[in-house]
Amino acid sequence: MKKWKSISCMCMLAGALVFQPLAVSADQPENSPGTPDQQNYKIKGFVDYEELEQRLEKIEQTSNGRVDVEVIGQSNQGRDIYSARIGDGDKVVLIESEIHGNEKTGTDALLHILQYLGSSNSTHAEKIREELTFVAVPKMNPDASELDRRGNERSWEEVVADFPQLEGAVPSWNYYNRSLQGDDYSDNPGFDVNRDFHPDLQYEPQPEDFPGSSSEPGWYIHPESQTIRDLYIDLQDEFGSVDTFIDLHHQGPHYKVGETNKDVTMSISAQFVPNPNSEDGAKYSSYADNYNYDFSRQLNVAIYNKLQQGNSPFNNITLYSQGLDLPGTALGSFALNGSGTVLFEVRGQTHSFGQKKRGQLVKTVETGLYAVLEGMADGSVYEQDPERYEDIPLTNR
Ligand SMILES: [Zn+2]
Repeated sequence: MKKWKSISCMCMLAGALVFQPLAVSADQPENSPGTPDQQNYKIKGFVDYEELEQRLEKIEQTSNGRVDVEVIGQSNQGRDIYSARIGDGDKVVLIESEIHGNEKTGTDALLHILQYLGSSNSTHAEKIREELTFVAVPKMNPDASELDRRGNERSWEEVVADFPQLEGAVPSWNYYNRSLQGDDYSDNPGFDVNRDFHPDLQYEPQPEDFPGSSSEPGWYIHPESQTIRDLYIDLQDEFGSVDTFIDLHHQGPHYKVGETNKDVTMSISAQFVPNPNSEDGAKYSSYADNYNYDFSRQLNVAIYNKLQQGNSPFNNITLYSQGLDLPGTALGSFALNGSGTVLFEVRGQTHSFGQKKRGQLVKTVETGLYAVLEGMADGSVYEQDPERYEDIPLTNR
């Protein structure tokens, strides 16, 4: 690791974080990736920030130089944001977890994969390391993770201090400064960082672009989104493009698979903005040459197929809401920049289901991610029929 700094312990909060179910605020768009409809859980048992640092350090130390852990930025509250990189291949896979700090299975799954790829001498691991450059950013929004909530910890006044041109502008629409989804933001407000992305990676915030809306781009006004954007640009500079970008989230606990009575284990998606090559996506036409919807669909088909494993809960995979227009999400912005993109939405907030279920859900994420890593490494994902994406059952909300 390049840099370590001590962070005051926030462990005393953990015991108190038991939320009661609460309806999503009316102004929260229904089709909002990672918006659970209720939350009733504890975070005890999940990897916290301090443990993440320890685990990453250990993974790097025991990897024989295979895993490179770096500090790539700091959160608004000064916590380091880490990337862990492995492999020498020219196909790039970037995966982040906990952009919403209360959506935690992705971090566990990434740590398991890093541990395996960093230490295994199997031909399976070697093949992935040879063909791919895998970059993981676990807990990309660590302040939200430590508060176990969706939004980061930052006030509009802090935004204006960083961007004086926004003096007098209306705070962005995704600013949380009241009670929302079981969390009271009135004393320590924050923002949904997953609406702060802009497909123009060089965009600088302008007052006339506020307060914005869910169907308009974000502004890169937060250190967490800036950190991922800068990493994305660095990878583009190094490799020409970021082939695949995956964002790991959670959704409501009791959605159903199509018309069945089965609970959805995980939803996936390839669609976050209207296709720039279509009439609906005309406003994104300048990105039309980059956009690779078929590759995103191939990735989703590979994930779906790998998770169809006999009669098990792993089978219960659906498509997340389609027809979205969310250019302020990391997925929407990076899809317009040419990455194959996949959304993972695991059911519930996990701990409410107990340890066994938590393990099963983490395993679901891991299995889905391996479908991508293996399929890109052996080339099979490029042979998938993208139209099979349309056969994946829809989520019944
Ligand atoms: Zn989310």
